[in-house]
Amino acid sequence: MARIVMKFGGTSMAGTERIRRVANIVRKQQAAGHQVAVVVSAMAGETDRLVNFCREANPLYDPAEYDVVVASGEQVTSGLLALTLQAMGCKARSWLGWQVPIHTAEAHAKARIMEIDSDALCEAMAGGEIAVIPGFQGLSAEGRVTTLGRGGSDTSAVAVAAAIGADRCDIYTDVDGVYTTDPRIVARARKLKYVTYEEMLELASVGAKVLQTRSVSLAMKEGVRVQVLSSFIDEDAPPADDLPGTMIVSDEEMEGSQMESQLVTGIAHDKNEARVVLTRVPDRPGAVSHIFSPLAEAAINVDMIIQNVGRDKGETDVTFTVPQADLARAQALLEDKREAIGFNRIITDSKVAKISVVGVGMRSHAGVAATMFRALADRGINVQAISTSEIKISVLIDEDETELAVRVLHTAYGLDADEPAE
Ligand code: ADP
Ligand code: ASP
Ligand code: MG
Repeated sequence: MARIVMKFGGTSMAGTERIRRVANIVRKQQAAGHQVAVVVSAMAGETDRLVNFCREANPLYDPAEYDVVVASGEQVTSGLLALTLQAMGCKARSWLGWQVPIHTAEAHAKARIMEIDSDALCEAMAGGEIAVIPGFQGLSAEGRVTTLGRGGSDTSAVAVAAAIGADRCDIYTDVDGVYTTDPRIVARARKLKYVTYEEMLELASVGAKVLQTRSVSLAMKEGVRVQVLSSFIDEDAPPADDLPGTMIVSDEEMEGSQMESQLVTGIAHDKNEARVVLTRVPDRPGAVSHIFSPLAEAAINVDMIIQNVGRDKGETDVTFTVPQADLARAQALLEDKREAIGFNRIITDSKVAKISVVGVGMRSHAGVAATMFRALADRGINVQAISTSEIKISVLIDEDETELAVRVLHTAYGLDADEPAE
């Protein structure tokens, strides 16, 4: 007997018929002799709808009230799944974030899980009851509802798995695993049987939204075994114990798996960044600090940075990227500091995309960047900025060229499957 956390995303929970299929998968997992906790998302599109209501009600909304509104999507699906399981003859109940409770800290709308009291949950599960927990929700120290940031149900699932000492955390979604790139963009993307925590962390943080970044770092820290798999399966499919999806594993497990290690494991894209260029910044010590300190103080995350070759008269252009959502704020802050920084113009562009190639194989092989630049140049794709880490290279390009660049790089690194996925 194992303890298993099963998480179902928005598309899997979209409507009563889909929830019935989810209940069927859950029922079978329990019938195979396991203790089961289920973490659910709101129905697909529901959280966006709720966020829009908040914006309409008050554009400068109070994040605490925003959390009250957006957490409701998961409340509905957790209750519906418990009802559906009960209709199938299973013992099941919902446990809202404040009932577990899932204690969180820090800001509303992006709260972090601090601690989960799992005793009552474990007792109920040991008694044969299926625990259905709405993802995304928590409870603040002040006793108020919090939410974990978009895509946060993945993190709820991993945190519950860590708290109850689960043998596995299965993340059910609308694709059957982690692919070499988004299979909706490249039909010949290949499903990966294993990905290391570190690679998955990089892939998620540069735009592969199949798992929320924080869920991966938590799984890595707590040693939770995570599997990504599809809920869109035949009604008579067996329980997931034979690991049909992608397993996220440690480096050691990967080496032990005898998998041929690829130079590049995956490619991701992110259209949510914006480019800022400050022209004619004085080329002297301290100048860049004047630019980036105010942004850091305002918690605006600067990602890629390049300082262009100096112009005449000791001046230079500085280019960097910020999240699109923070662009207006960043621009206002920099305008405010125009004199202190001493720049001439601010040029901004939100029609950019960041394309990243990720792979632990990069550590020991040269030439990954050269292949990237050659492949992009051959298609006339202009690189506007570059950033690297030990196992990742990212480039900034025109947003219109996103799909082309991802396809071209997928081929250039030999990742294409022989057959397109169905
Ligand atoms: P859920 O609602 O189940 O949480 P998400 O929409 O958050 O699902 O994540 C699943 C989606 O992630 C897929 O539909 C796919 O388009 C996208 N995706 C992006 N990159 C990848 C990748 N490398 N492998 C698999 N899916 C990916
Ligand atoms: N419903 C939330 C969202 O759409 C959380 C999640 O689905 O993971 O962001
Ligand atoms: Mg998701």
